[in-house]
Amino acid sequence: MTTNLRSESLDAGDAAPAGPRVGVLALQGDFREHAHVLTELGAQVALVRRPEELDGVDGLVIPGGESSVMDKLARMFGLAEPLKAAIASGLPVYGTCAGLIMLADTVLDAIAGQESLGCLDVVVRRNAFGSQNQSFETDLDVPALGGDPVHAVFIRGPVVESVGAAATALASLADGRVVAVEQGNLLGTSFHPEITGEHRFHEYFLEKVRSRARA
Ligand code: GLN
Repeated sequence: MTTNLRSESLDAGDAAPAGPRVGVLALQGDFREHAHVLTELGAQVALVRRPEELDGVDGLVIPGGESSVMDKLARMFGLAEPLKAAIASGLPVYGTCAGLIMLADTVLDAIAGQESLGCLDVVVRRNAFGSQNQSFETDLDVPALGGDPVHAVFIRGPVVESVGAAATALASLADGRVVAVEQGNLLGTSFHPEITGEHRFHEYFLEKVRSRARA
């Protein structure tokens, strides 16, 4: 399937019923991959670069990339505060890797001056796997998704060093380090389902989006 990436909505097709409208933060990083997955799953995708593009989205994905750059651009383009307000009002948001860092309340090993949106009750550590092991693949049990283990690709990913009372761990590495979390309408993974053909996290997220849109 080819997808024409624009700021307007990407329709699933005339015959299909309109899916939920899902924004993908497109300041930096692998937003195109998320847009393709979400489009395949029937969502209408809107790339978000300006505050007004948040209006009317039923959910938002924050992609992988470089969290310090994404943070800087979000503040420069006036998106950080509207994003925080939208999340506080219940907007479902899924962050992968740098996106998880953007959502976290506390970021360890951040660069000087780096901020996060601070809405997910976790402490994450950036680039937590050390120079020998920055990128790797492994299979994870994710009971909330059911079925086969999830094949997870980590690329200079963070780990969740502590999960606060408001959040829940969804998956851990064999050594116990947490790499997927949820908190109400928020979902975060240290790894990148958008590049492996693994759609269950996006489906899980879209369920949150649909139930909010129905409410
Ligand atoms: N190391 C990056 C950061 O700190 C995250 C890497 C990724 O998103 N693949 O933001």
